[in-house]
Amino acid sequence: MKTVTEIVNQQLFSAEDLRVLLNAKGRDRELLFAKARKVKESVTGKKVYFRGLVEFSNVCSKDCLYCGIRKSNGKVVRYNASDEEILEACRFAWEKRFGSVVLQSGELESKSFVQRVDKLVKKIKQLSNNELGITLSCGEQSQETYLRWFESGAHRYLLRIEASNSELYYKIHPDTPKHSFEKRVEALQFLREAGYQVGTGVMIGLPFQTSDDLVNDLLFFKKIDIDMCGMGPYIEHEHTPLYQFRHLLQPKMDRFHLALNMIAVLRLLMPDINIAAATALQAIDPAGREKALTVGANVIMPNLTPCEYRKEYLLYEDKPCLDEDAALCRNCLEARIELAGSEIGYDEWGDSKHFLSRQ
Ligand code: SAM
Ligand code: SF4
Repeated sequence: MKTVTEIVNQQLFSAEDLRVLLNAKGRDRELLFAKARKVKESVTGKKVYFRGLVEFSNVCSKDCLYCGIRKSNGKVVRYNASDEEILEACRFAWEKRFGSVVLQSGELESKSFVQRVDKLVKKIKQLSNNELGITLSCGEQSQETYLRWFESGAHRYLLRIEASNSELYYKIHPDTPKHSFEKRVEALQFLREAGYQVGTGVMIGLPFQTSDDLVNDLLFFKKIDIDMCGMGPYIEHEHTPLYQFRHLLQPKMDRFHLALNMIAVLRLLMPDINIAAATALQAIDPAGREKALTVGANVIMPNLTPCEYRKEYLLYEDKPCLDEDAALCRNCLEARIELAGSEIGYDEWGDSKHFLSRQ
């Protein structure tokens, strides 16, 4: 059997190699992390890019079985931030030289929602002299809508596949046409065709998920040739159907470690993509995102959602930064990123090198 030292020095990786790396512990893990960090620094550089995250609405028409803001969770107070509040948060990002923002929300396909996002994208471009990069994360939409938003100025899109094994996908989503696995894969294709930098990802440590599933998730990312990835630990939420399977979960710390291994292995498998340090890492370990930056991640998403709404965008328990205002968030992040040995790419979009070289 190959050693971890041998595997990390390869250029190509078999499924078996990936499995060995994913399960690396102790000294092997240190080797994996050190190599992932080296690859990141030599390929994407030492910079970490900010994406100011605005969770502008928790209204959702879907019922994903893991998500705290799913349509059927009657305990959530629904909100829609006003255009002014959203634009104010984006102006803050621009003035603080963040370079980019992410607009994220529940999934709606109504005409008014599509128009609203379109208008917001145009206004964000206007208020920042076209300087802010815009990533959208508003779920599955028609090909026409994706094109429309792209033409208005959005240039990156995040749509996690959540689980690339369709059987697992249907264990964590209702088996209805609205939650179709095929439709989700097709949406990723539409995004690519529209011209976006395409980001996807999965939750790590889901009930019923095996190591083989995670290996196949990595191979799926490679196969569809993603430009960006955002993946983090699955964290249970009491008011969701998946909570009944919490006895099947690994301890949270194990999910956290597995998520770091996934990030490091993906950095070796796809050296020039952008990888985000997911917020869910911070829900388990307060320094979780910074740790991810030291093992391969190069993007971080400071939360700019107006404070009053944050407690209603509770996807999972212990979601961090619920009462931290945006300015505080930036100051504390700066210090922590420097501690993690990286620099911040102020005023830069920090586009995916993988995307740029495909162009
Ligand atoms: N509605 C859009 C969508 O589903 O693509 C974007 C917003 S959704 C809240 C963003 C991400 O939150 C999902 O892709 C999912 O992976 C993550 N998420 C939801 N519930 C979670 C949980 N319990 N633990 C970890 N991540 C979760
Ligand atoms: Fe809605 Fe996204 Fe949550 Fe699914 S994951 S319920 S689409 S907000």
